[in-house]
Amino acid sequence: MSDVRNVIIIGSGPAGYTAAVYAARADLSPLVFEGSVTAGGALMNTTDVENFPGFPDGIMGPDLMDNFRKQAERFGAELVADDVVEVDLKQNPKVVKTATETYLAKTVIVATGSRYRELGLPNEKRLSGHGVSWCATCDGFFFRDKDIVVVGGGDTAMEEATFLSRFARSVTIVHRRDELRASKIMQDRAFANEKIRFVWDSEVTDILGDTKVSGVKIRNLKTGEETELPVNGVFVAIGHDPRTELFKGQLDVDDEGYLLVDAPTTRTNVDGVFGAGDVVDHTYRQAITAAGTGCSASLDAERWLADHA
Ligand code: FAD
Repeated sequence: MSDVRNVIIIGSGPAGYTAAVYAARADLSPLVFEGSVTAGGALMNTTDVENFPGFPDGIMGPDLMDNFRKQAERFGAELVADDVVEVDLKQNPKVVKTATETYLAKTVIVATGSRYRELGLPNEKRLSGHGVSWCATCDGFFFRDKDIVVVGGGDTAMEEATFLSRFARSVTIVHRRDELRASKIMQDRAFANEKIRFVWDSEVTDILGDTKVSGVKIRNLKTGEETELPVNGVFVAIGHDPRTELFKGQLDVDDEGYLLVDAPTTRTNVDGVFGAGDVVDHTYRQAITAAGTGCSASLDAERWLADHA
């Protein structure tokens, strides 16, 4: 059992490290749990990041996260490459456990991010950042005049497809059923778009390409027929799972499992616990917005500590 810390931050993406920079510079000596395998968060799985302000020539995702990490360390944040496996947030001080240690803190910032759902195909990870993407806002620009497949049938898939049609030569939406789950307005927008076509009752069974995507294999679920479609990009838009399992029964979440906060603050339903980044946000899901709310969470924690001194 350790001393009572001012702030424990759970998560090491843009939200967690930004919270750490601010808390460290406020002399709060934050302790950051980075995770044992995925330290650095979602951007560790990508190549060029061209929309994070301050890098006019773009920067590779892992290099950007390395910069975030170094900046947090420079001001004295203590970084632990381990997973938090249990918490008791309703006690004061709050209890945070790894597999081997127990830590105590006056405030906790939850910045655990969200998992993009994957198709589960062998080539999907290998070609991630080389034609396979989960974020049209992030990567659409790289697909000017290219042919793209979007997988999914919900609002996100329609939104991604419509956005991508601005750049792409063609967008093919592959959907497992013969009707969409998306809201009517999103469907109408996609149906009216001349660049978008639909392949119904079908699933992508393989992503083809050596060093970058060159096509997909598609199977019709009704007839079993397999075809190959030459494309340059595959956008997977089948949903996200916010990492909130750890906080079940303690922190309030919405129907989709996202942490609920008292916006525009980052306060959760538990006094002294704050939420930031993609674990809260199902609307924007960008590195810059995650970093922004990480900053807000740190300032909220700092004010909480001042009020409870
Ligand atoms: P994350 O980055 O998801 O980080 C959370 C991290 O917290 C986890 O990875 C893990 O290390 C840690 N963690 C979680 N649970 C625990 C636990 N129990 N214990 C300890 N640690 C834990 N956005 C852009 O703005 N521009 C882009 O170009 C861009 N490209 C992208 C490309 C890809 C392939 C992906 C997947 C996303 C991309 N995004 C991009 C989106 C961006 O990465 C996310 O919006 C952002 O990383 C969210 O930050 P976050 O800090 O909320 O969470």
